[in-house]
Amino acid sequence: MKLRTKLAQQGRKARSQPGTVNLPVARASTVVFDSVEHLHEVQRRFDADEPVPTYGIANMPIRAAFEELIAEVEGGHRAVTVSSGLAAVSVAVLSAVSAGDHVVLPDSAYGPGRRFCLRTLKRYGVETTIYDPLVGAGIAALMKPNTKVVYLENPGSHTFEVQDFPAIAKVARERGAAVIHDNTWATGIFFPSFEHGADLVIQAATKYPGGHSDLLMGAVVANEAWWPRLRDTHRDLGQHASPDDVFLALRGMRTLDVRLRQHEASGIEVARALEKHSKVKRVLHPALPSDPGHALWKRDFKGAAGLFAIELAASEAQSATFIEALELFALGYSWGGYESLVVPAHIEGMRSVRPWTGGPLVRLQIGLEDPSDLIADLEQALAKIG
Ligand SMILES: *Cc1c(COP(=O)(O)O)cnc(C)c1O
Repeated sequence: MKLRTKLAQQGRKARSQPGTVNLPVARASTVVFDSVEHLHEVQRRFDADEPVPTYGIANMPIRAAFEELIAEVEGGHRAVTVSSGLAAVSVAVLSAVSAGDHVVLPDSAYGPGRRFCLRTLKRYGVETTIYDPLVGAGIAALMKPNTKVVYLENPGSHTFEVQDFPAIAKVARERGAAVIHDNTWATGIFFPSFEHGADLVIQAATKYPGGHSDLLMGAVVANEAWWPRLRDTHRDLGQHASPDDVFLALRGMRTLDVRLRQHEASGIEVARALEKHSKVKRVLHPALPSDPGHALWKRDFKGAAGLFAIELAASEAQSATFIEALELFALGYSWGGYESLVVPAHIEGMRSVRPWTGGPLVRLQIGLEDPSDLIADLEQALAKIG
């Protein structure tokens, strides 16, 4: 079956009467058993790693269905569900490190995940080195005997640097470090992380899998070798996502492929229009031939998300005027929903290796509106900055 077929077909095994297209939401702490023998039998299957429910936190059918499907989309072995994308970052990293270990993390990584490594992980005796996302095979120079995690985010948050993923993953493999990739931007549909050498893949399901700005959830997908460590760490940390949110995320997954292709097309159309504008100094979008990461994007990706940034030829005050003049772009964090969003990308305090020295950076999430309306809105707002 092709992926698009799986998105519609998988995880729908009828488990209730009457049979319905979608699985029902079971709100539950307790799973009840028919007999002691039944309880022991289910527990034996659970211990043998079958996705059978024993308690509300473990393997409830709707969650098992979501995990099966997201593992399929990312091209991995199995997945766990967590309460947010940020929790997916921490669960993935905690699965791969012990006290005394060393992590290397790109300067362009999602800010709160970076802070988790530099602040909380540090308290547990794990050291983090921030690296230039464009380092490529040069990552070898940063590897220490205790480097256990090589983290990637391709492309990076806010500045969208494209990493030489295969080159970095190859070095990590040779040195015995786990390759962890935050694949939220592209998803497995546009970037097959495991084929490029990942061991653990992070997906903020809040974004494209959910797709409607109405839930917070994350997932971590492992290859076969890393699955037992991910499963045990996830279980020990007591991570969970509510069945209502899992229902919505699974529902969002059914249309993930078609939505992504529209976000891609509209995003490129809007980016091209902005590139021509005199008030826009640079468009940071790897699918544009003018982008420094374009060649690598073309080599490794199958498509582009609808999230990119623009550098304005303007002052900070003019940037705020532009943002507030927008009528179709709501001002707020997060992205991946059907609606367009804008946020000033204040990355100054979040970069240490490649500090941002350009003008005001504004991040745009291109939603499913007609792109000509979005372009007209952006143009009228740019005109307001004089
Ligand atoms: C949003 C985001 C996250 C975190 O997801 P939340 O569900 O908002 O916690 C992680 N990584 C990337 C790249 C993101 O954009």
